Amino acid sequence: MSLRGEKRTEFPQSVRKKAFARCCQECNVEGVENVPGVPQCEGCGVQLSPRTGIIYEHDQADGLGGEPTLGNCKVHCQNCADVKTHTEDNPRMRKADRVMKKTYGLQPTRRAKIASRGFAKAPEQRKASAPVNKWRGF
Ligand SMILES: [Zn+2]
Repeated sequence: MSLRGEKRTEFPQSVRKKAFARCCQECNVEGVENVPGVPQCEGCGVQLSPRTGIIYEHDQADGLGGEPTLGNCKVHCQNCADVKTHTEDNPRMRKADRVMKKTYGLQPTRRAKIASRGFAKAPEQRKASAPVNKWRGF
């Protein structure tokens, strides 16, 4: 269960169409040539195809309040989407969960440590160096 809200908001078709048109027209990735009419990843500039995967991604993560609007929609290849999800979004959402749990006192309860009785104490042993008249119990 997430404290940040249960419902995931996907981009509506109209937003995805506009984002796709945007990534076909212009490529703003540095060092990558813009090929008009060809869809290019907005993260790395690679030409998008069903083989590379075409992912419509929330720039500001959905779980962190990102809206499903055109301004928050990025068209990424599978690789860029995976990198962003695993290196940016997921760690930030885990931290948001931790902070929220701590703020509202919702951490799991700590179990009391179970203390054992320990081992029975062994009877005292006779020492060879002790004088015979000081022996106890022998
Ligand atoms: Zn990419």
